[in-house]
Amino acid sequence: MAEHDRSDGRSDDRSDGHRETARDPIPRDRLRPRYWDTTPLDQMTPREWEALCDGCGKCCLNKLEDEETGEVALTRISCRLFDDGSCRCAQYEIRKQFVPECVVLSPRNLPEVAYWMPATCAYRLLWEGKPLYDWHPLISGTPESVHDAGVSARGITIPEFEIPEEEWEDHIIEEPGT
Ligand code: SF4
Ligand code: SF4
Repeated sequence: MAEHDRSDGRSDDRSDGHRETARDPIPRDRLRPRYWDTTPLDQMTPREWEALCDGCGKCCLNKLEDEETGEVALTRISCRLFDDGSCRCAQYEIRKQFVPECVVLSPRNLPEVAYWMPATCAYRLLWEGKPLYDWHPLISGTPESVHDAGVSARGITIPEFEIPEEEWEDHIIEEPGT
């Protein structure tokens, strides 16, 4: 997981029928234009680093790794703190108390963990020298674009406490958006 605020950033449907502009829980204002195209990951400011996260939530899904082949399979079984509706961690600030294994992504540990990160994850893409997709909130200007593009984990997950671990294999999925 990247270090960023995961408080609920969904758009609100108001009682008067108007849909408010989606509020982005990740600060993306006052950033240098297209800094991700010009700045190496390890030279970004903390704010620039945090703004790379697209909010897809796919890194909060459990993966199964084949010990012999090293192949990583994604499942729809989510971390127990993942909120399927908001597509965010329900206890981001204190998550380590409940999920000590949750990875705080940094330029230092990215090379070790990139192989199991989602293929569309902005951190993995940039680390692999690839461009961001047009649906990335930094480019689209709205956090909803990742959901509209069908790339996120919103609405597709089952909490890990509902399924015994030996049955996770039955819930392997293709990564959304790939
Ligand atoms: S997989 Fe998605 S939610 Fe997770 S760090 Fe990458 S961009 Fe952010
Ligand atoms: S604790 Fe779980 S839901 Fe929260 S950020 Fe980490 S993996 Fe995602």
